[in-house]
Amino acid sequence: MFAPRYLLGRQAVGLAHSGAGRPQITLSDGTVVDAGAVVLTAGIGTFTPRTLPAGEEFLGRGLSYFVPDPGEHTDRDVVVVGGGDSAVDWALALHRIARSVTLVHRRATFRAHAASVREVQECGVQIVTDAQVVAMVGDDALRETHVRVDGEDEVRVLKTDAVVAALGFVSNLGPLLEWGIALERRAVVVDTRMRTTVDRIYAAGDVTGYPGKVRLMSVGFGEVATAVNNAAVVLDPDLPLFPGHSTDAT
Ligand SMILES: Cc1cc2nc3c(=O)[nH]c(=O)nc-3n(C[C@H](O)[C@H](O)[C@H](O)COP(=O)(O)OP(=O)(O)OC[C@H]3O[C@@H](n4cnc5c(N)ncnc54)[C@H](O)[C@@H]3O)c2cc1C
Repeated sequence: MFAPRYLLGRQAVGLAHSGAGRPQITLSDGTVVDAGAVVLTAGIGTFTPRTLPAGEEFLGRGLSYFVPDPGEHTDRDVVVVGGGDSAVDWALALHRIARSVTLVHRRATFRAHAASVREVQECGVQIVTDAQVVAMVGDDALRETHVRVDGEDEVRVLKTDAVVAALGFVSNLGPLLEWGIALERRAVVVDTRMRTTVDRIYAAGDVTGYPGKVRLMSVGFGEVATAVNNAAVVLDPDLPLFPGHSTDAT
């Protein structure tokens, strides 16, 4: 609606303040953005998938950390590794098209949403818990996954065309860590106006942390509205913090 300027494909790397107190963000391509205020919405920063130590050599030819095209797994024997929402959701989705799906998790209980766990337990996905993938075997292509179950002497061999490892992500806030903004447990500390500890720098979404914080999209949308409205009042004190609803105008 307000024709924002998009600066894509580059990273915000530096923060300084001008003499007038305006934040200036330096981007990885050297662009300097001078702003009245800044809202950080960096999420958990850049993140890379946690790797599966066994079978790294099959990455891209059997082992994957994402499922960009579920159709690739049609009529395959797929092993999904992990116990969170991603693992359970992929097991459920691939179950509909794969020849077989086996879900391998190193613990007895799943962290995923309870309803999804019930569904995966009832839909015919083979579940192997308290177990770790210890080897992947094949020549050009993956043929078998070897799984060691706690307490069992023998390694179980699963016939496999593909392994999807959904083990979570390693996140890194990168340059933002150097901006002098107070962090607690790797999350940006904010007050109820979404102000950080640095003047005119606000934050919203997954990057923020406070007691009771819930990391959901709807929460981020609410926080960013709070941040922008409060920043607007700082930039122009004559503005109302909350101008009311459009429906109030009728
Ligand atoms: C597997 C999974 C499932 C989920 N399912 C749900 C769900 O069903 N419903 C729901 O509501 N929420 C869900 N969530 C949570 C939801 O994805 C997040 O709450 C939401 O994406 C947070 O939005 P954000 O804009 O704060 O951060 P993000 O979406 O993480 O966006 C942050 C962006 O900032 C970029 N960035 C970071 N640092 C810099 C920098 N220095 N310069 C430039 N760019 C930078 C990052 O690359 C990223 O693109 C899920 C999350 C995960 C991981």
